[in-house]
Amino acid sequence: MQLKKTVLLIVLMAFGALGQAQNNTPYWQQHVDYTMKVDMDVKNYQYKGTQKLVYTNNSPEELSRVYYHLYFNAFQPGSEMDIRLQNIEDPDGRMMEEGKSRIAALKPDEIGFLHVSSLLQDGQNVAFNEEGTVLVVELAKPIPSGGKTTFEMAFNGQVPLQIRRSGRNNEEGVALSMSQWYPKLAEYDFEGWHADPYIAREFHGVWGDFDVELTIDKDYVVGGTGYLQNAQEIGHGYEAPGTKVKKVKGKTLTWHFKAPMVHDFMWAADPKYVHDTLQVENGPLLHFLYKNDPEIRDNWKKLQPKTAEAMKFYSDNIGKYPYEQYSVIHGGDGGMEYAMSTLITGGRKFGSLVGVMTHEMAHSWFQHVLATNESKHEWMDEGFTTFISTLCMNKIMEQNKENPFENTYNGYRRLALSGKEQPQTTHADRYDNNFAYGVSAYSKGAVFLAQLGYIIGQDKLMETLHKYYDDFKFEHPTPNDFKRTAEKVSEMELDWYLTDWTQTTNTIDYGVKDVINEGSKTKITLERIGLMPMPLDILVVYSDGTRETFYAPLRMMRGEKENPYGDIQRTTLPDWPWAYPTFDFAVDKPMEDITAIMIDPSQLMADVDPQNNLWQANN
Ligand SMILES: [Zn+2]
Repeated sequence: MQLKKTVLLIVLMAFGALGQAQNNTPYWQQHVDYTMKVDMDVKNYQYKGTQKLVYTNNSPEELSRVYYHLYFNAFQPGSEMDIRLQNIEDPDGRMMEEGKSRIAALKPDEIGFLHVSSLLQDGQNVAFNEEGTVLVVELAKPIPSGGKTTFEMAFNGQVPLQIRRSGRNNEEGVALSMSQWYPKLAEYDFEGWHADPYIAREFHGVWGDFDVELTIDKDYVVGGTGYLQNAQEIGHGYEAPGTKVKKVKGKTLTWHFKAPMVHDFMWAADPKYVHDTLQVENGPLLHFLYKNDPEIRDNWKKLQPKTAEAMKFYSDNIGKYPYEQYSVIHGGDGGMEYAMSTLITGGRKFGSLVGVMTHEMAHSWFQHVLATNESKHEWMDEGFTTFISTLCMNKIMEQNKENPFENTYNGYRRLALSGKEQPQTTHADRYDNNFAYGVSAYSKGAVFLAQLGYIIGQDKLMETLHKYYDDFKFEHPTPNDFKRTAEKVSEMELDWYLTDWTQTTNTIDYGVKDVINEGSKTKITLERIGLMPMPLDILVVYSDGTRETFYAPLRMMRGEKENPYGDIQRTTLPDWPWAYPTFDFAVDKPMEDITAIMIDPSQLMADVDPQNNLWQANN
């Protein structure tokens, strides 16, 4: 009897403990410390390296396997990236030639590869197996929760012809654009492993510290992630101004970089790079590396003060840039963001050059400090980046557009009405076509924020961005983390917004249904046509030129924003409960005095049919 009672008690306690672990596990993230030594042969584009990786398992689970990404294996005929390219209806033009996959046409000495030749765990051999772009490793001994283990490997690679993001000899003649070049441990987080094959796009990585020694032909100038530790041996514009560089014997130089708290490490190199620097006041040292080509030089000089302005804009509007360095590097095949740096193509008109720098730099906040899993939540990275870089361009290029997001909203509407839209919860590789991915990630993602400003107010939106950055920097925030931040700042409930906008393809469509004369008053009936709920701002313009606004909060939002039109008298109406398809309110003037009625004069609500938002008197 007593025994049984004890058993029952233990069982009950075990269930209790399990319940607690599931519901109250505090945030955790894995940690990596990489030490790599790499030798690059600039003649045959092959490299050899060693990697020591100290992995800390901060998860509550014991791990018996780990995975590494071997991204360069994507650039081989028959890879998943190649086959996807051949089967998608709207392939990326950069990856195609005469309608055919450029990957499929690569010769053996042009492909990319990355192979691991030996791997030890704490000195013991481990079994590993290459599956395309992923290395599966069965551990010699499991890593306990809270434990550390050290992996030591040798690897060798070949840099592919530049087809997408990284590679050799890009279209503008940059020798080496080295991103996703090393065996990179996959991230394990509260959702489990994220050992995604490299099919098209978007990345997720483990936070940690990098120590990289790169040996390369001494004529090559290198830039990228990380602070150069031996500038006085290297020179090439890294030495302290006015000082002499110690001459090193031999044909190569070994560049030693350290990068604290990053989740990726990129470098680029070319023998013809010009290297300029610019110190941002109270900010990082900017590096510019670009080909010494008279056609682009002027634009790259003019780009430098604009880069400093963008850095200041983001630091003011999101939060202080946390590193001491940021590098804008000529390379790649468009624009791509990396830790402390970007690779951009250089032969552009000045506006386009500033535009691409501005966009990629904004990723420093939304991907390289707030490291959302962009494969799953690409809109939080590309969309938020598009939002803030659109505002930045409006300021630093003095565009002074009243609504800088007009094109962004129009892009979203085109997708919403195309029949090709998929929910934003779709994995970045699983969109049916590039059009649906692109508009969903960039435009619909940017509208998520711009429209949130409409819902909670512009000041609260910017306060939310600051708080989000402060609360989640150097972590992997999720959509819900962002939503909770906005809820705390606005004191509104926003679950409906996150759910409908990001997890469905429901659309917003409100309209002015009826305007009826009732003697000295006028009754206005609004209708909800789309499924997605929204609070409404309504502007009424009278024939004497005066204006008045009305505000119909959404009941499920449990709150009200401040009057966005401070100079116009606002009446807050009773809440509009979503299920009701129509909503009536009265204006204290006869109908003949009304010139126009307009839903959302700011046009920040992404109504898919804006036509019916406006009622005008027939005069
Ligand atoms: Zn981007």
